Amino acid sequence: MAVRFYMCREREVPRPFRIAIVGSGPAGLAAAGYLACRGYEVHVYEKMPEGGGMMAFAIPEARIPIKSVREGVKELERLGVNFHFRTKVVYDSPRELGDEWAEHFLSLERLMSEFDAILIATGAWRPRRLKVPGVELPGVYDALSLLHHIKMARIGYYSWEGIPDFKGKEVLIIGAGYTAVDVTLESRLLGAADVTMVYRRGLEHSYAKAEIRKLVSEGVRFIEFATPVRIIGDERVQGVEFAKTKIVGGSVIPTEERFLLEGDLVVYAVGQLPTSPIREVVCANEEILKEAGIFFAGDVIAPRNIGTAIKEGRERAKEIEEWLLRKAPRKVFPVPVAARLIGEVVNGRC
Ligand SMILES: Cc1cc2nc3c(=O)[nH]c(=O)nc-3n(C[C@H](O)[C@H](O)[C@H](O)COP(=O)(O)OP(=O)(O)OC[C@H]3O[C@@H](n4cnc5c(N)ncnc54)[C@H](O)[C@@H]3O)c2cc1C
Repeated sequence: MAVRFYMCREREVPRPFRIAIVGSGPAGLAAAGYLACRGYEVHVYEKMPEGGGMMAFAIPEARIPIKSVREGVKELERLGVNFHFRTKVVYDSPRELGDEWAEHFLSLERLMSEFDAILIATGAWRPRRLKVPGVELPGVYDALSLLHHIKMARIGYYSWEGIPDFKGKEVLIIGAGYTAVDVTLESRLLGAADVTMVYRRGLEHSYAKAEIRKLVSEGVRFIEFATPVRIIGDERVQGVEFAKTKIVGGSVIPTEERFLLEGDLVVYAVGQLPTSPIREVVCANEEILKEAGIFFAGDVIAPRNIGTAIKEGRERAKEIEEWLLRKAPRKVFPVPVAARLIGEVVNGRC
């Protein structure tokens, strides 16, 4: 069954505005669906070879099959949304996961000169690094990159080369969010003998607690209130030393109490960072950018989930519509002004 990103069967009469959407995850696709339904000309720019964002390129195939994402994207194409795949929009963005798929690079300034409004829905594709000694040892992986590679292999874009052999292995997973849950799922599907999740807070603090409870009932070990202090091994990882933690005023405080867990593979899932074409965008400057016709939705603002990203994409699309109608009929994008505003943001005025 298709993942649904729109709410109408037919487009309304064409309206005289063109909107660019950067990123085709659930936030961008939901916005595209709404705006296309309302009769606007919508162009979606996506650096990957197809649409869906994390749903297509990180979340395990066993949970969200690529087929249902593809059907959802096809429905939008039939509705008249124009997709430009393998096209990365850049302003000052550094290299990120998945960039090797981009064949075309388009500047944000160019979009600003060609469109009446822009929605940035580029997600959070930079894994937060675990900062403990030993993290560079062979056998230690960040969960997002690992899940991305496994999904790309499962759907035929990559070979399995370079993906670790999980068969019979003891796997230690650090974290307790969706990403940690999914890497646990994949580890088991790929034949791990034993999987242990370790979380610095209590299970009740995790938004994925229902999924974790299910995994525990299926034999996964879950250790709460512990944080890694170093990864142990000579040639490759052999285990992790943890400190027990306590929560004081909402903050996690490591204690002196230590313990060791052995593991053949260590995967850390300690969060993702926003990957916007405008790097510092989340620091209180959204209002300034909105004045220039640049809007944001989804994980690029802060971590979301699929439902919230879809809801936010649609809400932001409505806001874009209101903004366009308020600004009309004068030319909406005063490009030099917008460029100056972005310059101010990037140069630290936020
Ligand atoms: C491993 C994992 C498991 C998850 N499991 C769940 C779950 O079970 N349930 C749930 O509700 N949520 C889950 N989430 C969270 C959910 O996937 C995200 O909240 C959601 O995908 C955010 O949607 P988005 O549209 O903001 O961004 P994304 O889905 O990240 O999409 C952003 C898109 O922008 C593209 N892009 C980035 N930069 C550029 C650029 N400069 N130019 C062009 N294109 C660009 C990317 O290629 C990507 O396609 C999970 C997340 C991860 C990582």
